[in-house]
Amino acid sequence: MGKIDISNATRPTRARIGGSDRDRAARFSKRMPPAAKRSVFLRNNVLLPIRTPPVNPERTEIPDPPQATEVIKQLVRDMGVDDVGIAEIDRRLLFTQAGELQHTRAIVYGIAMSFDTMADIGPRSQDEVHRVYRKLDETGVRLAQHIAAYGYNASMQPNEGDVPLVAMAQMAGLGELGKHGSLISPKMGASFRLGAVTTDMPLLADGPKDFGFDEVCTKCGVCTRFCPGDAINPDKQVVNGIERWHVDTPACEPYFHKLYGCKICLMVCPLNSRGMFGQEFRAASKVLVQTKDAKGMLQLIEARTDMNYEDFSDLE
Ligand code: SF4
Ligand code: SF4
Repeated sequence: MGKIDISNATRPTRARIGGSDRDRAARFSKRMPPAAKRSVFLRNNVLLPIRTPPVNPERTEIPDPPQATEVIKQLVRDMGVDDVGIAEIDRRLLFTQAGELQHTRAIVYGIAMSFDTMADIGPRSQDEVHRVYRKLDETGVRLAQHIAAYGYNASMQPNEGDVPLVAMAQMAGLGELGKHGSLISPKMGASFRLGAVTTDMPLLADGPKDFGFDEVCTKCGVCTRFCPGDAINPDKQVVNGIERWHVDTPACEPYFHKLYGCKICLMVCPLNSRGMFGQEFRAASKVLVQTKDAKGMLQLIEARTDMNYEDFSDLE
């Protein structure tokens, strides 16, 4: 079931950045810790403006695409990512806001986020998320520059870019979509973020892979049980012509904003035990057994912090 049927896909429209409630999203950003704010500043003001570098008019021809593909993948690995794959871009998956992007390949990569820091579900976890987003964008800018120096068009794609990163990562064979709406990777579990560079360089695409995670999700449902917003559908839905796991974004948003980006669904996912954070997840799972569900998790967060999880007034 690692394959996704996109035969009836229609182009998605990217949700509003920060969520549908603009005032609450603004207060969410204002409440970020200083390191997260610095990362956001660097991404928006330094990296985004240079995401599409000038192209060298003296193109290096590529007589051996498999060899060139491996050279590019190794270049990305050397930049410090934890996994990389290549997707063939299907125009039906591009955001409507992307217009007619002419690139044919997406080089998609993931960088792990420290599991213990993420499981904190507080300001420290927000710093970690934005540290990794910044590193992903820095990697993408450097990679796009290298590809442009070969004489091919390339653009760094941040998480608010032209392509849906989770779908592209699945098409690049990096993992499978989980019931919690994020990618699950055999290497990084659910504790990572994605970045991409799109290009017209003739690289070999990997294609989706079956890791057996979809079957696990069908029988599991831990994320549904622990979600405080009751936002994770237990069954697949048809979204933009694709039958897939789906999260009710408006139901997620209040807790996403309240809990510094929340991420409870990612941290409770038992498939974390398969990747590089297996040891950390097994230690955390003892706490999960005691907390049992979303209510218990919120009580634990409240006991560990000064947060009153039923009081949303700081975001209203
Ligand atoms: S918690 Fe269970 S159902 Fe949810 S994504 Fe992970 S494996 Fe799938
Ligand atoms: S981020 Fe939190 S509120 Fe949103 S789906 Fe995950 S667990 Fe639910």
